[in-house]
Amino acid sequence: MGLLELLEYLIVKQLANNPAVDMVYKHFIEFQSVSDIGRMYGVSKHSVRGYVTRVLEKSGGSRTKAMTLLKYVYPLVKEIRPVIVSDGDGLCICLLCGEKMMCNVNVAEFHVTRKHMDIVRLYIDDIINKLRLRVKTH
Ligand SMILES: [Zn+2]
Repeated sequence: MGLLELLEYLIVKQLANNPAVDMVYKHFIEFQSVSDIGRMYGVSKHSVRGYVTRVLEKSGGSRTKAMTLLKYVYPLVKEIRPVIVSDGDGLCICLLCGEKMMCNVNVAEFHVTRKHMDIVRLYIDDIINKLRLRVKTH
């Protein structure tokens, strides 16, 4: 549990182009309900609830800690460009290895965790360094 796990969770989703990162931000920081967020993104409120629960778990079960971590981490995670994008022809393509796949967040995340954990780890280190610098300069 903790920052590293939360970062890994969010970065995989961002790389896979899963808007879950925005959904949990809207819930924890903007206090929107899971059903409103579900409607906004066209997913079930159970899916949103699932993302919210995972973020809470990774924050040690503390809502306050989840809010604090997300506040700092969200803008940095959102700077990462997704690697799974539409190929313009009904499928999705991975910009890192060229593999084509169905446009589905679960398929995309599976691809990222199976093939590109090295990239995920680089982004984790990068974000940790940026957070450290911030702590130092303030
Ligand atoms: Zn790939």
